Amino acid sequence: MDTTPIMVSTWSFGLVGHEAAWPALRDGGSSLDAVEEACRAIDADANIDSVGYGGLPDRDGEMSLDGCIMLSPSACGSVCAIKMFMHPVSVARRIMENTDHVMLAGAGADAFALEQGLKPASLLSDEAKKKWEQWQHEKEARGIDHDSKIFPPRPIDDGSGGPLFHDTIGILAIDANGVLSGACSTSGLPYKVPGRVGDSPIIGSGLYVHPSHGGATATGTGELVMGECNSFLVVELMRQGAAPDEAIRESLNRIREDNEIRETHQVGMIAMTPQGEWSAGALRDGYRVSITTPDRNEHVKPMFTLDD
Ligand code: ASP
Repeated sequence: MDTTPIMVSTWSFGLVGHEAAWPALRDGGSSLDAVEEACRAIDADANIDSVGYGGLPDRDGEMSLDGCIMLSPSACGSVCAIKMFMHPVSVARRIMENTDHVMLAGAGADAFALEQGLKPASLLSDEAKKKWEQWQHEKEARGIDHDSKIFPPRPIDDGSGGPLFHDTIGILAIDANGVLSGACSTSGLPYKVPGRVGDSPIIGSGLYVHPSHGGATATGTGELVMGECNSFLVVELMRQGAAPDEAIRESLNRIREDNEIRETHQVGMIAMTPQGEWSAGALRDGYRVSITTPDRNEHVKPMFTLDD
């Protein structure tokens, strides 16, 4: 045990997960257990309307969850569009540890989780159902029928715990043995077209971890991230010598160069070297990140946005 543990995650609600996972991580527990535990705590929190239980459903009122977990290119697991289990990262970890595969989807993934002995859960909270009914009502009142063109409002995280509408929990942690792990969990974009899967469970888009070169995770408009494979790109740039800050900036610049950024769009990232040097950045204002070390436990603004 000679490394100082650290845990960094997307958004201010990341601290809910840190609170659950930090004591074990601080006392020598593994970073892999810590990132899973942190995601599970956030999944289970009904007040967080973008992840797990309490997340907002798809256009038809159905919940589906995505997530992944990663230690290295040869140790990663991912799951998408599960409808029966609250903790996608736990399913993803079992795929990583108990199969020869990396990713399972939909009904097959639910069946796998059941075989693994995980406990099925109902995913739609009463509050989320009410919000969906209200959204349907407003949509009809506005006469909008092109569902696929509707993006939710851009999330503004001012740290007050107010509703965010969308956002993924992405976590990077290093344990006392110097092992870097990452995980991502999301209910995806609210009111998404049924079947839509975003960046979060895609290794290289929503999350990438290389034990020798570092880790990165993304949140926000998944469609923008998937076109640039931002998490892989950030780790690749760090491999080539960029600091976390420079790597995030370059990867966000690629999004801006290649897309027309709409008012509803946002992408936020965090990146960390295997030594625990980290940074966070976003396309624009409204992003926050959570950081816990033996000396700190708080949520803060990212180091930069492209609009600064
Ligand atoms: N990136 C997630 C997705 O597109 C959502 C989010 O982070 O807000 O599914």
